[in-house]
Amino acid sequence: MWPHRRRRGRLWLVAWTLAAAGGCGGEGTSGPSASSSTLESLVPRAHTAHFDVHAGLASEATVAEIAAALESRYGRVTADLETGEVPRITVEVWSDEASFFTEMERFLGRRFSGATGYVTGPSVLRVLAVPQVARNATHEMSHAISLHVNPTFGNRPRWLWESVALYENGELVDPRSISYLVQGRFPTLTELDADPNAGRQVYEVGYLIGEFVVARAGREGLLRLIRAHGDVGVLGFASPAAFESEWTAFVRARYFAAAGLTLGEAVP
Ligand SMILES: [Zn+2]
Repeated sequence: MWPHRRRRGRLWLVAWTLAAAGGCGGEGTSGPSASSSTLESLVPRAHTAHFDVHAGLASEATVAEIAAALESRYGRVTADLETGEVPRITVEVWSDEASFFTEMERFLGRRFSGATGYVTGPSVLRVLAVPQVARNATHEMSHAISLHVNPTFGNRPRWLWESVALYENGELVDPRSISYLVQGRFPTLTELDADPNAGRQVYEVGYLIGEFVVARAGREGLLRLIRAHGDVGVLGFASPAAFESEWTAFVRARYFAAAGLTLGEAVP
């Protein structure tokens, strides 16, 4: 599934992060820029219990913020996903947007505008130093650690790959603020699999998917679903439609009925 690609005999994974305010890499960064002929080079800048942070132009404060955020989230994600300690993770931080995308193109064979971070596998995260870079880094860390649950999980399927990272990273978007949910239009799993350039709904509702799976089947159920590449049959659902129907009812009951809001359909 796109954007998987094979290059130099290995499978590279690209993950996409959603900037908190909806702006992704295209909006520029606050850091200084390298000239077009001099790309930003990264050097080791921080070494923590579980991470090596490499950066170029990023400030000491930014590097420290990223390292602290990663360490503070690491325990929860490895516990939730039951991986135990994982091999050290290298984090590469670019401040210069042109260099970030040039390296992406060199590494992946093409560039994906709008991306602010990606993982190249279970042990390397790459992020652009946008204002919410610390949260993006922990999002990418969640992706990387989930690859220890299932090494072929990357974007397979995309709806679950993103949902797991969004849930583990605590990226809840209140469904009462999402107009299509308020209007009773809940996306299907197929719709959530949309190309990142075509649809970003998964970033808005992915946390709610993860929350539903854990409420319905426990953390062990979430792990089973990851290992089964999102085959909802392993959780006892007769079909994706049955999963979507129960998820819709869960979100309505938990967020809308509790708030005294009524939608077009009775809440079970
Ligand atoms: Zn992601």
